[in-house]
Amino acid sequence: MFCPKCKSEYREGFYKCADCGSDLVYQLSPETSDHSGDEEFVEVFSTYQQGDISFIKSVLDGEGIAYFFQGENSIMLIAAGAYARLLVKAEEADRAKEILRDLGFLE
Ligand SMILES: [Zn+2]
Repeated sequence: MFCPKCKSEYREGFYKCADCGSDLVYQLSPETSDHSGDEEFVEVFSTYQQGDISFIKSVLDGEGIAYFFQGENSIMLIAAGAYARLLVKAEEADRAKEILRDLGFLE
């Protein structure tokens, strides 16, 4: 027997959890896993120009493309000349690259 709240295991014959008073169950239900959140993101562009970042953001927002910039909030990184990397969903990478090419950000 198991307590669904504290996950304690009890011997057969117990029906209430000694700790929290919950009714015990025969089996704990498996953790509901949500995998919808782990889409694969790929890097399509990198820049150290803060102006590029805000411009690209407004364009991608307009196109409805999901993206994020890695490193953009790290002032230290940018000050050190490091790049903010633009990542988009793998399935939208081609479209994002095309847009960036049109804008002149990619060769
Ligand atoms: Zn309990």
